[in-house]
Amino acid sequence: MQIEPIPAFEDNYIWALRHAGQVAVIDPGEAQPVLRFLDRSGEHLAAILVTHRHGDHIGGIAELVARHPVPVYGPALEAAEVVTEPLQDGERLTVLGIDFEVLHLPGHTRGHVAYYRPGSLFCGDVLFGAGCGRVFEGTLDEMHASLARLAALPPETKIYCAHEYTQSCLRFAQRVEPDNPALGRRIAAVAAQRAAGEPSVPSTLAEELDTNPFLRWRSPGVIAAATRWLGRAPANDAETFAAIRLWRDSL
Ligand code: ZN
Ligand code: FE
Repeated sequence: MQIEPIPAFEDNYIWALRHAGQVAVIDPGEAQPVLRFLDRSGEHLAAILVTHRHGDHIGGIAELVARHPVPVYGPALEAAEVVTEPLQDGERLTVLGIDFEVLHLPGHTRGHVAYYRPGSLFCGDVLFGAGCGRVFEGTLDEMHASLARLAALPPETKIYCAHEYTQSCLRFAQRVEPDNPALGRRIAAVAAQRAAGEPSVPSTLAEELDTNPFLRWRSPGVIAAATRWLGRAPANDAETFAAIRLWRDSL
């Protein structure tokens, strides 16, 4: 299977999975870029996967299924207007002959799901390069628990997120942990990728564990930053995460 990003809007990626002349797309917020991709490749759309209900992730589905009537896999808890195959946490699905596991990861939205197979995670707006999604519907504790599930995946897992936000996230990460040497290296590497017109994603979970302040609630630098924001030491990992998320939201 090949995995390719289809750029959409300003900074979205619609991930295309390609295998044996068939394509599945994840989070098609727009139809036109997907239709152009199918025209160019001569491949057939076989399935659509959805991570959550936001328009920049589902906005193209009606137009796509009008032309290509394919199953639409998505969270059981939301996006019912487009999802034909609702999925719960822990369920498995087979797309293009490849098995994925569904992870329910509430926080950004109530029903947000991610799709995992060994080596690859398609995580929508939960985890970004050096960042994480805003907590719109769930609680900060729920988002922390969702990110903790991802942090426990194998470190070589590639992180296919839905946005090109890495550079702005890295600027904030450096404010949190100015003394983290891995951050300086990543900032330089991502600047080179972006200057060459390349996506900064997928990253690996290992890179995120080294540089993403929203996964580094055990890092002394992140705990110190959370302590400054709160005016006292955080009581636990979830509170460290919450302080960093609230600081980011305040900017
Ligand atoms: Zn979203
Ligand atoms: Fe989004």
